[in-house]
Amino acid sequence: MPQNKQILLDNRPQGEATASNFKLVTGDTPALQDGQVLVRHHYLSLDPYMRGRMNDAKSYAQPQPLGQVMQGGTVGEVVESKSPKYKAGDKVVGMGGWQEYSVVSAEQPGALRKVDTTHVPISHYLGAVGMPGVTAWYGLVKIIDAKAGQTVAVSAATGAVGSAFGALAKARGLRVVGIAGGADKCNYAVKEIGFDACIDYREHKDAGSLSKALKEAAPDGISGYFENVGGMVMDAVMTRMNAFSRIALCGMIAGYDGKPVPMSFPQLLLTNRMRLEGFIVSEHMEVWPDALSELGQLVGSGKFRPRESVAQGIESAPEAFLGLLKGKNFGKQLVKLT
Ligand code: NDP
Repeated sequence: MPQNKQILLDNRPQGEATASNFKLVTGDTPALQDGQVLVRHHYLSLDPYMRGRMNDAKSYAQPQPLGQVMQGGTVGEVVESKSPKYKAGDKVVGMGGWQEYSVVSAEQPGALRKVDTTHVPISHYLGAVGMPGVTAWYGLVKIIDAKAGQTVAVSAATGAVGSAFGALAKARGLRVVGIAGGADKCNYAVKEIGFDACIDYREHKDAGSLSKALKEAAPDGISGYFENVGGMVMDAVMTRMNAFSRIALCGMIAGYDGKPVPMSFPQLLLTNRMRLEGFIVSEHMEVWPDALSELGQLVGSGKFRPRESVAQGIESAPEAFLGLLKGKNFGKQLVKLT
């Protein structure tokens, strides 16, 4: 059996996460038991939710245990199988974690899913045609539910979730305004994904200034907002929301290192009769088949070409992850392991 490099959570962050919270180890891969398969990971997914799991705090999911392999989504190839359900060469998506190989019990429901890489490159099953894509779909379709011609907005617009949101919203005939960090990201949002407008929030020192820019980008106001960030960006968007508008509260990355994320204008929820709803995509497995089918068609047909930031080798995972929490990624953040 092959040697396996793994990254463990060694200790919990105090404030900002740092590379010293992680530890690289090399171990033997255990021999396969009946019903198990050995998967060689091609890509590891890095996602903002991992920051929350590093804390020992009450949340919707259990904390990442200390001294164990960091949890995370992976795509790869079955290299050995003692299960009739899988054979060597099958391409699979699973939760293999921050390591080069995983031994998976094929009988465990949802542990592995075969994927077809004929029209969709395997890495996209961790991004646009995977969990982040379904997240965008859920917020857009099930919470925002805007009518064609209405304006919707999204923060972290060029990231894994935000870019899928933009592509889905355009395909459904909506006007889409993105908010992202930097001119390059905004150019990409408009020219490559098809956003109608994109605002670089770093050019605005406060919510008032960002709100003015939003008024130009969304002259009819905003009917639905997909929130990934929180803080000043959310304050500004809230001042431009229409009566009876909806906010899909997906993430608040501005507060993941433990800083408070105050909301300056909660009274607008009342005066605009708005609906704000938080959600966790893994609690809505019933929508995944429909969502993945729509996303797979968008990507497979070439209408949406998701961008990726790819770090090389398992050793690079901690730095790439810390970069994601600071906006250094441009598109879906992955680690290539082969
Ligand atoms: P992204 O690919 O969008 O990467 C994160 C982006 O967030 C960065 O590129 C950066 O974009 C922005 N960002 C990072 N730090 C900050 C900060 N301190 N303040 C403001 N912006 C920051 O990640 P994902 O697409 O994977 O995830 C987007 C959001 O969706 C996250 O909040 C995540 O937690 C949430 N999520 C929620 C799920 C759910 O079920 N509710 C499921 C999946 C994701 P920029 O440079 O443009 O600022």
